[in-house]
Amino acid sequence: MVKSLSAIAKAKKIKYFLISFVDLFGVLRSKLVPASAISGMQRDGAGFAGFATWLDMTPADSDMFAIPDPESLIQLPWNKEVGWLASDLWMDGKQVEASPRVMLKKQIDILSRDKLTMKSGVECEFFLVSPDGSAIADQRDVQSKPCYDQSALMRRYDLIKEICDCMIELGWGPYQNDHEDANGQFEMNWDFSDCLTTADRHVFFKFMVKTLSEKHGLRATFMPKPFENLTGNGCHAHISLWNDKNNKFLESGDRYGLSKLAYNFLGGLMKNASTLSAFFNPTVNSYRRINAPPTKSGASWSPSSISYTGNNRTHMIRIPDQGRFELRLMDGSSNPYLLQAGILAAGLHGMNMKLDPGEPLTCNMYTDYKNYPDLDKLPDDLEESLEKLEENKIMKDAFSETVINSYIKLKKKEIRSFFSK
Ligand SMILES: [Mg+2]
Repeated sequence: MVKSLSAIAKAKKIKYFLISFVDLFGVLRSKLVPASAISGMQRDGAGFAGFATWLDMTPADSDMFAIPDPESLIQLPWNKEVGWLASDLWMDGKQVEASPRVMLKKQIDILSRDKLTMKSGVECEFFLVSPDGSAIADQRDVQSKPCYDQSALMRRYDLIKEICDCMIELGWGPYQNDHEDANGQFEMNWDFSDCLTTADRHVFFKFMVKTLSEKHGLRATFMPKPFENLTGNGCHAHISLWNDKNNKFLESGDRYGLSKLAYNFLGGLMKNASTLSAFFNPTVNSYRRINAPPTKSGASWSPSSISYTGNNRTHMIRIPDQGRFELRLMDGSSNPYLLQAGILAAGLHGMNMKLDPGEPLTCNMYTDYKNYPDLDKLPDDLEESLEKLEENKIMKDAFSETVINSYIKLKKKEIRSFFSK
């Protein structure tokens, strides 16, 4: 039975709901709705003018409606009067195909025909900078190898603890927080879940980190490469496919502990990696992170070629443990839903075609790349990844040609506006 948000509001003393959705550029949009109006909104949705957001619509289009998913409800731990809801977009009685959450749900549905679910965890790196965004907030954070620096971490204890306490209260199972490889950079990890839950939490995490940072007089940014000489913000994802409680990627007899299904899925990611870059590295700034020269700390920690390996962080895909792999291509500007949807669409293609990812590489790719001149490279810039997307039939079949063309059109417009400034 569908949960009544009105009844939940009464029980949890929620006075307002944020009915939210994410557009194609990953921007979080909301309406703040009083609890007295939530029943109607739960049934009919909150109205929005699509043209006012990054969706390929015109001012003449009818209203679109965000119908909240009650399963996604998060009561803001720092303001319990407010409940946050992820929504699916509808227009003229039909789901909006270009709504990123709808795009992900479509791939989840296809996978469920094989009685499988994709589970994933994301590692969202972010910088804490000054309120005007011009510099790292902590001026004492100057080590050349600042990763795991205890003092720099503990100077941000009040903020990190508050965010982590929120995740504990929400039942996300956070388990570690650290200072990352760039000055001013942090990462906070919570448990993996089914990929829709992870995507909703990923959206909420960014909102929470930004909001609580502002409360502490700071500014948080997930921008891929805010400082040229420092490591950028990655958003690695760990992936596995499950049938009920069985991890179908696990095969203990294999050298890396992966099943044939996992290698096929991985093959799909390898084959579509440069196309997926259009979703995973979706901004002009993204390409200053991938293909980057070594940073002040000595490594960029981001890939430049399409390769996979065992437990080795210099490749695009790492197999850190049995039964899962880590895709290291994505950055902090990737749309949380398109991130999961892109992985799933490519993985499904690999499964269906029984793609072989080839032999893994065990070299240090940062130093030995010249020994592998034939290895496919990741795109040099956003234009190139959009060209790959334009040519890719697999993604057009997965998400529809109209949706992909809309995405390309909007992104090209963004590139033009960036370079005309
Ligand atoms: Mg990291």
